[in-house]
Formats: sequence, structure tokens, C-alpha cells
Amino acid sequence: MIIIVTGVSGSGKTTLGSLLSKKLRLPFFDADDFHPKANVEKMTQGIPLTDHDRQPWLEHLADNIKAWESAGGGILACSALREHYRQILQVVPSIVWLHLIGSKDILTERLSLRKGHYMNPGLLDSQLETWEEPEYGHRIDISKTPEEMVVEILKIDEIIMPSLHFGVIGMGVMGKSLALNLADNGIPTAVYNRHVEGKEEKIASTFATENLDLPLLKGFDGLEEFISSLEKPKKILLMIPAGNAIDMQIGQLLPMLEPGDIIIDGGNSFFEDSKRRYEELNSKGFHFIPMGVSGGEEGARKGPSLMPSGNQEAYDLVSPYLKKIAAKDNNGAPCVSFIGNSGAGHFIKMVHNSIEYGEMQTLAETVHLMKYGLKLSYPEISRTLKSWTNEGLKSYLLEITADILLAKEGKNFLLDQVLDKAGQKGTGSWSLTTALKYNVAYSPLSEAVTARMLSGNKDEREELATFFGHRFGAFGEDKVIPIEKIKNAYALTRIINHEVGFELMNQVSLTENWNLNMSEISRIWTNGCIIRSTLMENMVALYKENSSLLKAKQMKTKIKELRYDLSYIVGLGIQHNYALPVMSAAINYFYGRITTDSSANLIQAQRDYFGAHTYQRRDDPNGPFHHSDWKGSIPKVGSMEIGY
Ligand code: NAP
Repeated sequence: MIIIVTGVSGSGKTTLGSLLSKKLRLPFFDADDFHPKANVEKMTQGIPLTDHDRQPWLEHLADNIKAWESAGGGILACSALREHYRQILQVVPSIVWLHLIGSKDILTERLSLRKGHYMNPGLLDSQLETWEEPEYGHRIDISKTPEEMVVEILKIDEIIMPSLHFGVIGMGVMGKSLALNLADNGIPTAVYNRHVEGKEEKIASTFATENLDLPLLKGFDGLEEFISSLEKPKKILLMIPAGNAIDMQIGQLLPMLEPGDIIIDGGNSFFEDSKRRYEELNSKGFHFIPMGVSGGEEGARKGPSLMPSGNQEAYDLVSPYLKKIAAKDNNGAPCVSFIGNSGAGHFIKMVHNSIEYGEMQTLAETVHLMKYGLKLSYPEISRTLKSWTNEGLKSYLLEITADILLAKEGKNFLLDQVLDKAGQKGTGSWSLTTALKYNVAYSPLSEAVTARMLSGNKDEREELATFFGHRFGAFGEDKVIPIEKIKNAYALTRIINHEVGFELMNQVSLTENWNLNMSEISRIWTNGCIIRSTLMENMVALYKENSSLLKAKQMKTKIKELRYDLSYIVGLGIQHNYALPVMSAAINYFYGRITTDSSANLIQAQRDYFGAHTYQRRDDPNGPFHHSDWKGSIPKVGSMEIGY
């Protein structure tokens, strides 16, 4: 496609042509740059060019137009005032003429503002006299802004938009940010949002118009147009709510797609749903990539952590794009990796979110202990948390918590205006049911979900607080030792939260045959995502050599050092009426995992006593199951039975 933008001097040919060139990804040429030196000198002196002067210049341009067309097209800004000139340029059939039309006042004003151009403003009258308005082509009103003109021009049927490389459906918080990220990284991107009469209209096209500085972004209000704008194989990223919306959206898309096209679900879908969708779409010849995305709005815009799964073949087709938009780790490598087959990507995103729940609750408990137990002010707590970032505890969540504690609304701290009621949905509760299903101990992270559930009963909490006269106790005057102990308790709880999440991944990976690589998962979580931290950076190396943080030699001394403080703080907190669900579950989990002598022998005995469930023996741990007559095995001492 060749576009020629015509009009007298000052009509804005260069500005408009350059903008269009970005939008259509066609090279831009200014006819003035092709004038021979003699012509430029004449124009600078205010001497009008004759047709004799123009002839070689126009013929030279015509030769170039043919070359540009064979090379894929171009946009030329050229006054082409007379029909005769235009006929010389009409050397290929695919020319779209755009004629810039405006009043003499506008043109004079624009010329008077123009600096460093050899066109003498005095020539405007002669140009206007020379102008022969053609009946073909498109008249463009120059009283509009260049951006408005571009929007109008792109609606012209003959203007063929080049195929776009990537499509994003769902212009909510995440979809918009990812689309901007894609376009910003040089990826021609189509965007679409559903149409809801009277409520959600022209969301995508308005969004693209609001972002004209990103010419590679194109908005569509019709799904069919959106799909046909994409090059093959079509790559479509869904950023819409999990559940039915995904099935319905896929259902609408399939009739418009061809086998080999790729649908990526970047939302927080339940991995069991993703497994089902993967099978269904694969059986029809389509690619489906369940992909976890973490980083929130800012991460999505500047570089998220991406967790794609499905199959390697489909991943290879999209990985060049994903690598461009992903966050980069400390070595500059993109925080994206093929996670595993089928729904593995959504599974690990669920675990990521579950660890996030645990980390957030641990921080909430930590701040609570400092606020009420140590009677520290928010700025004091914030300073303390910030100092921890230099002591090996740096994490995104710690940093934002330190910020939150300083935020004010007038004279009040904003945090104190926030209702103490949190909810849980999706990934939080799914991680619990998954841990139960796969028989993985998950108490610290499940406590983080439970804590949110309890917080939700605000009215009942207030009623019971009065009923029981509940209030938090202060720890006493000496703040120095407890702060260090709270820090250590926080540090060990974090290690255990991560251990628990990664244990779930280990177990599910074995069962599902996903071969999840824990070191690589840690690596892609070192940047862009919400649970990025120094600990996560250390885990990249630790998981290369160990299957568990608790088994890593490098962690042993540290954990041994921290565990007394976690026990101490949990004990102290509970004595002073604090609920510390994650911290206490963490220390319980830890002792439960490292003891040689668990209390489960009594559980087994009880089961066998009342239900003949049988038990295995310590002297033959892998041997057969036994049943005992427990009552009959109680020795008699005199007339009194032992065990009353
Ligand atoms: P959001 O701001 O609420 O946007 C949701 C988008 O989906 C909107 O464009 C909405 O269109 C569209 N939508 C809603 N129902 C739909 C339906 N039935 N069919 C088609 N489109 C529908 O949500 P978001 O925060 O961008 O999240 C999108 C997905 O990413 C979710 O799965 C979310 O869990 C996940 N995620 C979110 C974050 C985050 O930090 N926000 C981080 C990672 C992952 P309308 O405007 O027409 O309603």
C-alpha cells in the first residue's frame, strides 16, 4: 500500500504522514527531501518553481514509489497541487490519496509558527491558486488534531492494517497493562473487550485512541475484526475472570479460529479447569496455554513474572513475545519459562498466590505484635521493617508494608481507616483443597486463608471481644530483645511458608508427571512477581542441590538459630492474647516435620481400639498391619485396673 498525503505548505503533511507511518508500520518519506539542490535554492529565495523545475523531481519520486511498493509500501508527503503532478506519481494502482484541506487562516497561522523550513510563507497564496482539488481520494479536514485525523483515516476501507502479532481480550486492569507492555516492546498488538449494551461499549477502541503514542496498539470493538487482524497462527491472550467466562469466551472464539491457533489463559484459572480445557482444545487441534501471570498492574505494565504451560510446541511459538514483556532476573534473563504440560502454569500460580497469602498474613502478625506488644508507632515499625531489608529479609511485600505504614489521610494514618476484614477466593481456597487432595501438610499457608475467613466476621468478633473482655497485652519495657526475636520469628515463618508451598509443588509434580523444576520456578519468581525476595533469590541455588529447604545444609544453622525465637514469640504472643495463626502453625509444622517421635502412635492405637483399623509396628515399620485386643492387653494390678 502506498499512501500519498497531499496539500499546500503548512497543511500538516509531514506530521500526519509520520504518525500514520508509526501506526501502519510503513516507512515515511517527505517529497521535499527529493528536490534537487537548484529547486531548494529557488524555494528558499521565495521564487516559485516552474513545471519545468518540478518534472525531474516528480519523475524521480515516481521511480521511488514503484520501489517502495515492491518493498511492502510507504507513505509519501507531497504537495502534488496539480492534477498533472499527481498523474506523474500515479505509477502503481494501490495508491491511497489523502488530501489535507483547510482554511487560509489556519494555514497562515501554522506557517507563521514554523521555524527552520525553507518554504517562504509568502508562497502560500500562489500554492492555493495552483491547488486543483481532485474528485478522487479522501478529503481530510486539517482543523482536527493529527491524532483525530489518524483515527478517521484508519477507518478508510482501502487502508489495510498490517497483521498484528498478538491479541489481548479483556481490557481490565491486567489486560490493559499487558497490552501496553506488548506494544511498548515493539509487538503489534490487537485489543478487544466484550460489548455490553449501554455499559461496556467501545472499550478497546477508546483505549487504543487514548494511547496513540503507542502506534502498535490497535483496538477492535468487534470480535471477528479483532480475530481477522491477527497473523497466523493467531495468538490470543485472555485476561478475563476465571470460571465460566473463560469457557464462554473460548466457545465464542473457536468458530473463528483454525487448528494451530493459540489461546493463552493469563487469568487465575483453577488448574483442574485448565487441564480439562487443555485436553478439549488439543483434541480439536488448537493450542492452549494456561499461563500464570504475577506482578499486579505495575508488573503487567513494566514486566511480570510469567508461568506458561501446555505443551512445548505452543510455548516455542509464543516465547519470543513473552520473553520481551517479562521482568528480568538479576542476570538479565526473562522471568518466564515453560513450566510443564497441561495446567502446570496455573497450578504453580495458585501456589504462588498461596505463599503470597502466607507472606501477607505473617507480615500482618508481625506488625500487630510490634504495634500492640511493643507499643511502637507506625513510623517506628516502618523504619524497623526497612532496616530488615538490609539484613537479608528484603522482599517486595516487606517494602510495600513499610510504605503502607507511613501513608496518611490528613492527620490520620490511612491504615487505621481500613476496615479489618479480608476476604479469600479462588487461588487461596483452591490451594487448601489441592493440598488435602494430594495429602500434603499445608497448615501454615492454610492458616493464612483461615485467618481471612475469621477476620470476615467483624460483627461477631466485636460482640465476642466484649463478651470475653479481650484485649492485647503489652510485652514490657525492653523493646530491643523482642524486636530481634520478632524479626527472627518472621524470618523462620517465611522459610516455612515457602517450604510448604514448594512441598505441594513437589508432590503434585510427581503425581501429574510435570517434572517441575523448583530452581527455575524460584528464578522466575525473583522479579516481576509479588513474592519476589532475597529468600527467593537464594532458593534458586538451594533447589539446584536440594529437594527441600529444610534439607539444605546452607539453611540448617540459620533455621536452628531462628527456631527458638519463633517458639518464644509464638508463646509470648499467645500468652498476651494475640492470634498468630501462621507463625504458630509454622513452628508446629516445623516440629511436626523434624521429630523422630511423633504422637501418631497414639492416634493409630485409638483407631485400632475403636475401629480395628490396624497399625504397623515400630520393630517392623514396613511390615504387615496388626490388630490388637487393647482391652484384653491391660494388665490387672490387684483388683484395680490401670488406666482410670
Ligand atoms: P478486571 O480489571 O476486573 O478486568 C476483567 C476484564 O474481563 C474486563 O475487561 C471485563 O470486561 C472482562 N470480563 C468480565 N467478565 C467477562 C466475561 N464474562 N466475558 C468476557 N470478558 C469479561 O480483572 P483483572 O484484574 O484485569 O484480572 C483479569 C484476570 O487476571 C483474572 O483472572 C485475575 O484473577 C487475573 N490476575 C489479576 C491480577 C491483578 O493483580 N489484578 C494479577 C494476576 C492475575 P468488562 O469491562 O466488560 O466488564
